[in-house]
Amino acid sequence: MKKKTFIIANWKMNLSLSDSSNFLKKICKFKMPLGNLFEIVICPQFLLIPNLSKLLGSIVKLGAQDCHYATSGAFTGDSSIKLLKYFKCKYVIAGHSERRILHKESNIEIKKKVTLISSEGLTPILCVGELLNERKKKLHKQKIISQLQESIPTNLKNIIIAYEPIWSIGTGTIPSVYEITEVTEIIFNFLRKYRNHTKFHIIYGGSVDSKNFKLILEIKNMSGALIGGASLHIKEFKKII
Ligand code: PEP
Repeated sequence: MKKKTFIIANWKMNLSLSDSSNFLKKICKFKMPLGNLFEIVICPQFLLIPNLSKLLGSIVKLGAQDCHYATSGAFTGDSSIKLLKYFKCKYVIAGHSERRILHKESNIEIKKKVTLISSEGLTPILCVGELLNERKKKLHKQKIISQLQESIPTNLKNIIIAYEPIWSIGTGTIPSVYEITEVTEIIFNFLRKYRNHTKFHIIYGGSVDSKNFKLILEIKNMSGALIGGASLHIKEFKKII
């Protein structure tokens, strides 16, 4: 059976209420020749979610860019998984490098988020990836393995792992096929060996566009992409799909 391909848009803190509605309405009209072999997921900023959840058709799923690891409580400025679920989110990104760096999120915190997301019946999209100096010093394998070990609970039902080298995000520089394959293999082997009850998909993120997406999809065990900049332009996003 052919594996599902994920095209996941991370809109970050972009798009207005009207621009995001128009975008979603257009995607919902796309003709998808391979229908259910593709999963298109839009992850908008929190305040856009209630409106977009009213516009969803069968083609597009909704995801969130983050959530808190507790279901409720004294967490000023955070958003709860219960509300994300209420507004039909099926996926939640956890541990994006912008959250790890700008909000000082640790693997311990990310693991709690992954656990909650999955226990609420949603799919966590866990981001892992190395800094440029870690790659230059050949420390990338070690970094990825410790992120996997420390952020994936042992009895998880399902997960999407996005390999996102930090030096590739928003830079237009993407790793070679060899470099992506090397990390994909590490992730694949880790999950097979140490989390063998978990259903998983591996995707790549970092400067993906309509020109390089096909090549990335040809990589062994690759199930799609997490796309930032290129997912904000309807023409480009349509080309990718
Ligand atoms: C991201 O931040 O998840 C990302 C992949 O961004 P970009 O595609 O813009 O590199």
